[in-house]
Parts: sequence; C-alpha cells; structure tokens
Amino acid sequence: MAVKIIESCVNCFACLPVCPSNAIYEAKPHFLVDAKKCTECEGAFADFQCASICPIEGAILNSFGEAINPAGSLTGIPPEKMAEAMAELQAH
Ligand code: SF4
Ligand code: SF4
Repeated sequence: MAVKIIESCVNCFACLPVCPSNAIYEAKPHFLVDAKKCTECEGAFADFQCASICPIEGAILNSFGEAINPAGSLTGIPPEKMAEAMAELQAH
C-alpha cells in the first residue's frame, strides 16, 4: 500500500519533510513516492501527511488511484464552477 505523486505535482517540497517514512524524493519531472517505503502513515498519523500539506488538488493518489485531495477540496470551488470560470477566461 502506497500513495502516488503524479504529474500535476509542482515540486514545492512541502511534502518531503513531513513524511514519517522518508518515502518521498525529488525526481524529474516531479517528486515521487518510493512505494516500498510508504506506509500510508499507518501507525504514525491518522491521515496522509503528504496529502494533508500538499497545495495541489489531485497531485497525490491513494492506493486505489483516487485523488486524496479531489477537485474542489482545497479551493472550495466546485469542479463545475471552476470549469465554467476557465472556459470564460479562455474565451477572452
Ligand atoms: S502517505 Fe505517509 S508514508 Fe506515504 S508518502 Fe505520504 S507521508 Fe510518506
Ligand atoms: S506537496 Fe504536493 S505539489 Fe508539493 S512536492 Fe509534494 S506532491 Fe508535489
């Protein structure tokens, strides 16, 4: 069981020091999780420390491949509102 960092990661370094298992490492083009080291914070914390500090929605997936911070969870903007706003911005 391990979480996964995907390409939307912006390499902000926030998750690196908070991982209790030293499972996160800097890589190109984005940070990665060593699946052999990640414990999903079990026994150490109630929630995924990396995902709880990550500022980017969708950048970290759980072992089912689901975003731990799904769209709208950090910004508070419902995904459909965000899509509308982006479409409007692109129209100008
Ligand atoms: S879930 Fe926990 S152990 Fe796994 S990478 Fe994130 S902070 Fe580290
Ligand atoms: S906190 Fe999120 S965006 Fe920042 S390096 Fe970690 S996974 Fe990437």
